[in-house]
Amino acid sequence: MTRINFLLVLVAIVLFGSCAESPLDMDQENLILPDLQIMNNKKELPAEFQDVPLIIKDALLGLYETKIGANLVNRAAEALKNSGIKARFVYQLGLKNTFKYIGNGCVEYNFAEMSTDDILQLVFHELIHMAQEPKGRLSYLLETEIEAYLGQYFYCMMSGKEFKALRGNNLNFEEKIKSLAQFFDIYTGKATNESMFQHAFLIALAEIGLHPLYGSDKGWKIGPSPYSVRILSSLMIN
Ligand SMILES: [Zn+2]
Repeated sequence: MTRINFLLVLVAIVLFGSCAESPLDMDQENLILPDLQIMNNKKELPAEFQDVPLIIKDALLGLYETKIGANLVNRAAEALKNSGIKARFVYQLGLKNTFKYIGNGCVEYNFAEMSTDDILQLVFHELIHMAQEPKGRLSYLLETEIEAYLGQYFYCMMSGKEFKALRGNNLNFEEKIKSLAQFFDIYTGKATNESMFQHAFLIALAEIGLHPLYGSDKGWKIGPSPYSVRILSSLMIN
């Protein structure tokens, strides 16, 4: 092997090595131990979630198995309390295996054929909306959806669940959220590289805008940049 070839191989190894290490690969064990302690210590839900159906209470208690989940339940409860409202979860026969935040602390749902993992990650997603916009009608800003899906992704990574978001014939949207996650540090609540975060955020916005659920015909729109993930930033898990 010539010296130049050897150097090229060396560079390739270094590059590959750095790509393989994602922030989420680290400290898996450290994440699990404190989470179990939270589960044991905290069995009572905040007052703002006392009126929801039993099956939803079980899901909310399931969120307490992770720090990020416990922090979000408390963060959403705080937002509801400040708005003087309580969470409502309303079963809707007409919905099909979905959850839908409609504003004023209310989520419509129907999850007859969903797995527990899928239910938990969607409840997490809807709680982000409750914390974002506890009172009044929805803003229909697509950036609120990107934050909710990004949070859902981190929750899945930390609880060992398969992240599922807007799956159709491809995984394009999930890939965009995973790319965005690379530039956000959930441990500090900050972007690791602000310009790359904004760039990846714009790409995720463009992708979600293509989905029939989030079309402009349904009132969805994109607000001005720069984009932030205010609720996720407040869930710092250290
Ligand atoms: Zn949403």
